[in-house]
Amino acid sequence: MTIHSILICGGTHGNELSGVYAVRQWKQNSQKLQQLAPSANISFELVNKASVDARTRFIDEDLNRQFDLRKLQAKRAEDGSSHEATLAQSLNEQYGPKPHGNIDLIVDIHNTTSAMGPTLIVLENDHFNQQLARYVKTHMPDAVILVEDHIPYEQHPYFCTLGKRSVMVEVGPQAQGALRADIYLQTLRMTELIVAFIETVNTNTDEQLPPVEAYRLIAEIPYPTDSLGQRSAMNHPNIDGNDFTEVRAGMPCFMDFEGKDILWEGDTVYPHFVGEAAYDKQNLAFATAQKCEF
Ligand SMILES: [Zn+2]
Repeated sequence: MTIHSILICGGTHGNELSGVYAVRQWKQNSQKLQQLAPSANISFELVNKASVDARTRFIDEDLNRQFDLRKLQAKRAEDGSSHEATLAQSLNEQYGPKPHGNIDLIVDIHNTTSAMGPTLIVLENDHFNQQLARYVKTHMPDAVILVEDHIPYEQHPYFCTLGKRSVMVEVGPQAQGALRADIYLQTLRMTELIVAFIETVNTNTDEQLPPVEAYRLIAEIPYPTDSLGQRSAMNHPNIDGNDFTEVRAGMPCFMDFEGKDILWEGDTVYPHFVGEAAYDKQNLAFATAQKCEF
């Protein structure tokens, strides 16, 4: 297998600034990155430029939920379509059409308001993704591997799935519309490792690495609501700011507005995207994962 083309993207969400500034920097000078993978052609893209200019996640709706194969095929951009639906169609023409992408690997850079650390999100459980995750985790021990393989690749709504293969770099905590140097540097480091791994694949110098600790997405958990549908609790201080901490049955996961603990029921989980600001509008408190080897 050879990865001829790598597309590195930022600004899929316009207020996630580490990816925006990393891509701007590489557009000016990508020599260091190119030298890590001379066997591949690396290009860069600021994906949703209008939302980058507006410093908002999106103009009309979330671009990173537009790329489910069925949605793409069903929906044709028409007058009155949202900015992001129209943009999704033109990106699909440029880099697809999905599932026949012309880019071998898309790396889409995001950041989160949650304290998830430098997280690599992989979307498929296959040899390539396993070895990539293992390479990144081995060279960057504080990296977190998050596996979202609960649905087939083509059903993912993410922009990056226009690529034949894709991963997301998701680093936090960083507020929306803000830029932190430590988050930026972790973003650079993880992206460089992905590129360096591709060179080992292309030159047949990749080692077969043993499995590493990872987390596999289970579900998205809403905030508790009262009989009127109003939110009735917050994330518990034990989990807020402590993404990927174990929560067992009987441990507090929410706190109501009088300060009373609400306990977790069910299997042991590892909450992440805890209190992510972008998901507040959908009333999402956190996502759960189970620990696994990947
Ligand atoms: Zn994002």
